[in-house]
Amino acid sequence: MLLPMRPKQTFQSGPARSAVSRREFLAASSAAVLAGTLTSTKSTAAESSAAPKLALNGGEKTVKPSAKLPIRWGEPERERLNAMLGQDSLFYWKGPQTTLLIERFQKVCPVKYVMPCSSGTAALHIAVAAAGIGPGDEVITSPITDIGTVIGVIYQQGVPVFADLGASTYNLDPADVERRITPKTKAIIAVHLCGNPCDLRALKALADRHGLMLIEDAAQAWGAKYRGQPVGVMGHLACFSLQNSKHITCGDGGLVGSNDERSGPRLQKFGDKGFDRVKGGGMFESFATNYRMSEPQAAVAAAQLERLEGIVSKRARLGNLLTERIAGLPGVLPHQVHPEDRCGYWFYMFRIKPDAFRCERAEFVKALAAEGVPASGGYIPVPLHRNPVFLKHGFFAGRWPVREFGLTKMDYSKHQTPEAEAILQTGIHVTIHEAMTEDYIESVAEAIRKVARYYAA
Ligand SMILES: *Cc1c(COP(=O)(O)O)cnc(C)c1O
Repeated sequence: MLLPMRPKQTFQSGPARSAVSRREFLAASSAAVLAGTLTSTKSTAAESSAAPKLALNGGEKTVKPSAKLPIRWGEPERERLNAMLGQDSLFYWKGPQTTLLIERFQKVCPVKYVMPCSSGTAALHIAVAAAGIGPGDEVITSPITDIGTVIGVIYQQGVPVFADLGASTYNLDPADVERRITPKTKAIIAVHLCGNPCDLRALKALADRHGLMLIEDAAQAWGAKYRGQPVGVMGHLACFSLQNSKHITCGDGGLVGSNDERSGPRLQKFGDKGFDRVKGGGMFESFATNYRMSEPQAAVAAAQLERLEGIVSKRARLGNLLTERIAGLPGVLPHQVHPEDRCGYWFYMFRIKPDAFRCERAEFVKALAAEGVPASGGYIPVPLHRNPVFLKHGFFAGRWPVREFGLTKMDYSKHQTPEAEAILQTGIHVTIHEAMTEDYIESVAEAIRKVARYYAA
């Protein structure tokens, strides 16, 4: 589980870091310009003569504490839970809370087939199984994500192949995805990191051209929109998480949906021990584990869905405002969101160009924190394949059958995703939540400008 607010981590920017190219910087800032965000450049230049003392060095703090995020559940959840407690069954199949949850989910993500399940990881495992991923099949995905993105792939004996990312979108770079397609590739899992939609049109075109399944990992992307359209409908399968740190929650839970007539009807079975509740009967034709949700979770999740639009529209506004206010600041690369998309900012992450500042990222973060900014370095410590379990290929009791049996030659210790490494070494994570105000975000931007100007090389 990855929480948006983590203990601060410091990273040495080692020789592996790749400086962001001028072209990438221009691309990021021109995206901000497209979004109508030229305004901040002027004020930045005007203020640069007076260099105020950093809070880190005893100067005045720029950011006053934000209102705390209040408890995220209340009357609507209580009402649903009370209704649930009056039922004589708490089982999911045709349960009233589950039925309501599915109905409300389909308003947010209009797909025909929906299976509520026990987690986002479960949703992804069900999706991968329903997509027909089997031993040795390659699945291309992002190396900067929750490990839940690939757990199902590995349990189905598939092989996660990590592609590199856009420098400021932190999402799959379709050109690099294409380079990694082989005859063994069966699917792409597009992770909408932070709720920022992937380039779905390009990924779908690749999937169609090569006969691949496109699975959307929308665990962080509740309420996000790709060119005005909800995420989750362009892919063959879409997965959402209801874990406690996500936009909406029932403690733990997930949903997997599909409009695909081949994999959609399989979702229920793959979340329910292979048991086909539509056909009934006692014989098993397929094999799966038990990922069922139950009525108590469904009751809370159904109520939470009513809060979603308010949560996401607020976060989208705050995140875009922050981009607007730091765009054009030398050495700073805002979080890049396509102007026609809606990002729900599960968190905000900007990057700093290492050469543009006289300090390491750790000190930049420390200075921001001293100003009162809820900032920390990066997101996950290393790309997924740099974790010991991948480096040792030790997934099953220290072993990896598909490699031992020659179904893959994958060696994660040699797998390279340089932009992903650089993102994690130069990214600065800023917490955004729906109780924050626009004024608060203005002050966060001011603190970033103050610190950036102070350390400017
Ligand atoms: C949270 C998350 C998951 C896993 O969801 P769980 O409900 O924690 O199992 C998968 N992918 C991404 C991108 C996530 O953020």
